[in-house]
Amino acid sequence: MQFKAKKSLGQNFLIDKNIAKKIVQYGKISPDDTVLEIGPGTGSLTSEIIKQKPKNIILIEKDNRLSEELIIKYGNSIKILNNDILQIEENNFSKEQILVFGNLPYNISTKILTKWICNIKNKFWFKKLLLMFQKEVAERIVAKSKTKDYGRLSIISQWKMNVKKIMDINPFSFYPKPKVQSTLLEFTPKSNFFDISDVKNLEILTKTLFNKRRKMIKNSIFNIVNKDDFANIKLNIDLNCRPQDLKPEQYYILTKEIEKLIK
Ligand code: SAH
Repeated sequence: MQFKAKKSLGQNFLIDKNIAKKIVQYGKISPDDTVLEIGPGTGSLTSEIIKQKPKNIILIEKDNRLSEELIIKYGNSIKILNNDILQIEENNFSKEQILVFGNLPYNISTKILTKWICNIKNKFWFKKLLLMFQKEVAERIVAKSKTKDYGRLSIISQWKMNVKKIMDINPFSFYPKPKVQSTLLEFTPKSNFFDISDVKNLEILTKTLFNKRRKMIKNSIFNIVNKDDFANIKLNIDLNCRPQDLKPEQYYILTKEIEKLIK
């Protein structure tokens, strides 16, 4: 390996070519696609993306050394931005909906995901996201109600997008080898999602209920909604259920009802 991987930038480079190929295949790149890759590193996914001949490729790499190397390797055919993805306003990437690949450091993947979800306007700026997570976090993102992994992250993640697990990836596919398994997830826009005015209200609701995960929701819900108001919310929620029994939709509807009361 030519580069000494920087721990601070969460560098675990994908070294298994077959996996890189597979990941890119899931993108189903067509000739008029604009592809954005975040954290391309040494270019293992990039090289596979190029083979699929999309119309445009944009790379965003925070590491100066790596982005210089990428410029040397790929030249002017690709737009390479030496930048921090967390500092970029994603809605301005392109007028067309783009395809996004990202094998990023685990902590950044979750940050990016929640930032992007909160900032999605009526029009989605992407058509598909293929992002890598630490397996345990991925399980929480895709979790259905009534399972042990279900919680705040599942409810936020499934609000505006369909989420799908694509595959687990073994630590041996990376160098240096990470301590945990990785999982690739696919996110696609929902044609309709609940129009919550302020995501903070959904956060407050899920936080308040899931902080008392094992308790019936009647023990915590009246910290947010007053009892009489709640009686008027026609949602058919059984107050004896636990937070993990409520479906994501019930959280979104409840948040909307609460917002009406606050107004
Ligand atoms: N995708 C490559 C590299 C994975 S390592 C592969 O699969 O081999 C993660 C990469 O993300 C590194 O290249 C690291 O420098 C880059 N990175 C880390 N934080 C970043 C950030 N905030 N913005 C953009 N790139 C980042």
